[in-house]
Amino acid sequence: MSEVVKQSPQEVLKKYFGYSSFRLKQKEIIDHVLDGNDTLVLMPTGGGKSLCYQVPALVMDGVTIVVSPLIALMKDQVDALRANGIPSAYLNSTLTVEEQSNVFSQLRGGQLKLLYLAPERLIGKGDDFLDFLKTINLACIAIDEAHCISQWGHDFRPEYTMLSKLKETFPNLPVIALTATADKLTRKDIVQQLGIPDARVFVSSFNRTNIKYLVQPKRNSYENLVSFLQAHPDDSGIIYCLSRASVEDLAERLKEDGFDALPYHAGLPREKRDEHQDLFINDKVKIITATIAFGMGIDKSNVRFVVHMDLPKNIEGYYQETGRAGRDGLDSETLLFYSYADVMKLKGFVQIDNNPEQTAVLLKKLDEMAEFGDLRTCRRQYLLKYFDEDAPGECGNCDVCLAEDEKIDGTTIAQKALSAVARLDQRFGQGYVIDFLRGSKSAKIRDQHKTLKTYGVGADMSKEEWGHFIRDLIYLGYLQKSNGEYPVLELTERSKDVLQGKVNVKLTAVKDPMQGIVKEEAPPPYEKPLFEKLRALRIEFADKENVPPYVIFSDATLQELATYLPMDNAGLERISGFGEVKIQRYGDAFLKMVQQYCEENNLSTAIHNKPAKRKKAKKKSKSKGTSLESLALYKEGLTIEQIAEKRGLVATTVENHLTSCIASGDLDVKVFVSDELYNEIQQAILKTTDPGLKPIKEALRDDITYAQIKAVVSHLEFKQEYGQSS
Ligand code: ADP
Ligand code: ZN
Repeated sequence: MSEVVKQSPQEVLKKYFGYSSFRLKQKEIIDHVLDGNDTLVLMPTGGGKSLCYQVPALVMDGVTIVVSPLIALMKDQVDALRANGIPSAYLNSTLTVEEQSNVFSQLRGGQLKLLYLAPERLIGKGDDFLDFLKTINLACIAIDEAHCISQWGHDFRPEYTMLSKLKETFPNLPVIALTATADKLTRKDIVQQLGIPDARVFVSSFNRTNIKYLVQPKRNSYENLVSFLQAHPDDSGIIYCLSRASVEDLAERLKEDGFDALPYHAGLPREKRDEHQDLFINDKVKIITATIAFGMGIDKSNVRFVVHMDLPKNIEGYYQETGRAGRDGLDSETLLFYSYADVMKLKGFVQIDNNPEQTAVLLKKLDEMAEFGDLRTCRRQYLLKYFDEDAPGECGNCDVCLAEDEKIDGTTIAQKALSAVARLDQRFGQGYVIDFLRGSKSAKIRDQHKTLKTYGVGADMSKEEWGHFIRDLIYLGYLQKSNGEYPVLELTERSKDVLQGKVNVKLTAVKDPMQGIVKEEAPPPYEKPLFEKLRALRIEFADKENVPPYVIFSDATLQELATYLPMDNAGLERISGFGEVKIQRYGDAFLKMVQQYCEENNLSTAIHNKPAKRKKAKKKSKSKGTSLESLALYKEGLTIEQIAEKRGLVATTVENHLTSCIASGDLDVKVFVSDELYNEIQQAILKTTDPGLKPIKEALRDDITYAQIKAVVSHLEFKQEYGQSS
C-alpha cells in the first residue's frame, strides 16, 4: 500500500467504503487525527466511530493499531475491512501459531494498514511485543470501547489499565480513544489514564433519530407483542425478558404461533448459544428472545426492532439495549411493556447486601426508569436530558409525540380520586385506592373503609382506566406518590382547588394501547420484492465467503439499489456502500438482478432521482399535525404570542413547532434570522463540539435568543437531510 500516493479523506471514503459524505463530526475528528493530535471520541452506537480511525489509517503511512476488548468482534471487523479491499489482520488466541507468524511477517513487510489486538496481547507479560512494534512503521493507535479503562464506567476491565504504558512508549504517535458511553467523570478518567490529558474531546449528540420509542402498559402483553410482530413480518429483532425461563417460554410460544424465533441466555450450553447467535447474525433466524446477556459484541446492523417484555433496571441499560436497533441508520422501532408491578419486583433485585449507598443509587436509577415509563411528555427529550443533553424540541417520533391526545373533562374523575385519597388518610398505595374506588368486595379492603361515602363511587371504570387517570393526575401535580419501597398516594398543594371545585381538570382520554403503534403498513418507498431478492443474493455471497451478510452490504445499501435501480457501473458508483472493490467483486451479480427485475416489471432506472448527498428515501414532511396547526396560524399573520394564547400553549412550544417546520422544509428560516445573523450563529454551531444548545448560546452575544439558534440548527438539519444548498 505504501506505493500509493497520499489520498484525501474524502477520496478514501468514496473509494474504499463507497460513501459520499461524512457523518456527525467524523470529518473534524479525522482531520484532527491526521494533524497528529490525541483525540477522544464520544459517539452513540451506530454513529460511525470506526471510520474515525479507519480513514486516517488509510491516509497515513504505516499501520494503525486498534485495541479492542471484544475478541468475538475482531474477525467480523477485519472481514468487513478486507471485503472493502483494505489489508488488515488481528492477533488473538483464536489464531493458530502459523496464522500468527503469518501476521507478523505481513507486519514486518509493511503490508498491513490496520491491526486489531486485545489489550493483554499488546502489553502482556514482558515488553516483547512492544519492542517488536518499535521496529515497524506505526501510524496511529486507536482504543475502542475506551470507557473500559475507567472504574467509573459501567464496564471496567482491569486489562485496560495497562494501556497507560502506550503513550510512554510511543510519545509521538497520535492516540484516538472511542466510546459510546461516558459521563463527564469517566471522560476525564479516560484521558488521564491513557496519558493524553490534552486530547480534544469530540462529543456527538446521543439522539438516535432513526429509532422510535414506544411504551405500552403491560397487560395482554403477549397478544400485543404478536400484533407488533405481525406489523414487522420481514424484520429482524431482539426481544428482551428478565428471566431465563421467560426467554425460553416466549421463544417456544412464538414458534408455536408461527414466528421464526430462538432463545438466548447464559444458562444455555455454549454451543447452543453460539449457534443461535450465529443464525441471528447471518439472517437465518429473524427473532431472538434473550436476557440482557445477549447483544454485547454483536455488530448486526439491520436489527429493525427491540422489545422489552420487562422493565430494564435503569435508563443506561434501556438506552444501550434499544440502541442495538438501527445501526444502519434506517428507521427502527423499540417497544417497552411497562407496569408499576415490575418496578416493585425490581426493587428486590437492586438491593445490595451491606451496601446502603450503592443500593440507594440503584433505587434512584430504578425510579428514573419508572418515571420514563409514566412519562406524558416526549420520551426522547427525557432520554437526552438524562444524558446531559439539550433536546431540540419535541421529537415527533415517540408514542407520546405521536399520540394526538384527546382531552376530556376529568373534573369529576379527579374529585373522586382525590377524595378517596383524602378519606384513606393518604396512607394507601395506588392499587388499594383503585380497589376502594371500584367498591371491591375483596377482603383486602378493610371493613371500616367499606362504610365510607367514597367507597365504590368509581365502579363505572375499569382498573386500567383508573390507573391511567391516576397517572395523569400525578403528572399534572394533583396527586403524588411518596418515596420508598411501598409508595402511597398523597395529596398536593394543588389538590385543594380540585376538591373545592375551583378548577376544571383536563385529562387525556384512555385510548386503545395499540393505537398509533401497530399501523397499517404503508407500502415501502422501494421495490420490496426486489429488496427481498437482493437479500437472498447477499446471503449466498455471505455463505460462500463465510462472513455475516452485513459485511457484504448493509440493508441501507440494498434499499438504495431497490429504490434507484442502477443499470450500470456508473449507477452503482452512486449507491452508498459500493466502493471500488465491492463494485468489482459483486457489481455484476447485483446489477444483473436489478436489470432482470426491471425487465420483468417494466421499470426503468431512477438513478437520476438520487441526490448527490445521502438523502432519506421517505418522509416528505416530518412536521406533525400540531406543528402544522401553529404554522397555519403563523402564516395567517399571528405572532408567536398570539398563537400561544389562541392554542392554550406556552410561547416556547409554539417556537418549537415553528422551528420543527424549518427542519422539515415547511418554513423558511429567514422569518427568524437575517442572513448576517444566520452566518454568525452557524459559525458558533460549527465551532462547538459539545451537544445541546446551551454551549452554543454561551458562545454567542447575549441578545441572540434560543429560538434563533434553534431556527438555524433546524435549517442545518434540513440542509443535511435534503442536501439543499441554500
Ligand atoms: P459505531 O462503532 O459507532 O457503533 P460503526 O462504525 O459500526 O458505528 O458504523 C455504523 C454503520 O454506519 C456502519 O454500517 C458504517 O459503515 C456506517 N457508516 C459510518 N459512517 C458512515 C458515513 N459517513 N456514511 C454512510 N455510512 C456510514
Ligand atoms: Zn417525542
